[in-house]
Amino acid sequence: MKAKSSGEIEIYVDKKLCTGCGICVRVCPERAIAINKGKAEIRKELCKQCLICMEECPFNAIKRR
Ligand code: SF4
Ligand code: SF4
Repeated sequence: MKAKSSGEIEIYVDKKLCTGCGICVRVCPERAIAINKGKAEIRKELCKQCLICMEECPFNAIKRR
């Protein structure tokens, strides 16, 4: 499998760690995150991989791959 370059990263929520606090929803400049059933969900088509949500999540629930 081809290694992903930095332009191809995917930001995702580890639902085991997410508490649904909503901080990521407020900090995302693209409005790409919503809370669904108490967990954050990132709309990949809107996400610009700016990593702000990853830095701001107090529970380290947002990760990249
Ligand atoms: S900031 Fe982290 S814990 Fe809070 S809703 Fe977003 S992903 Fe979940
Ligand atoms: S990486 Fe940036 S654009 Fe993507 S969901 Fe997080 S804050 Fe929003």
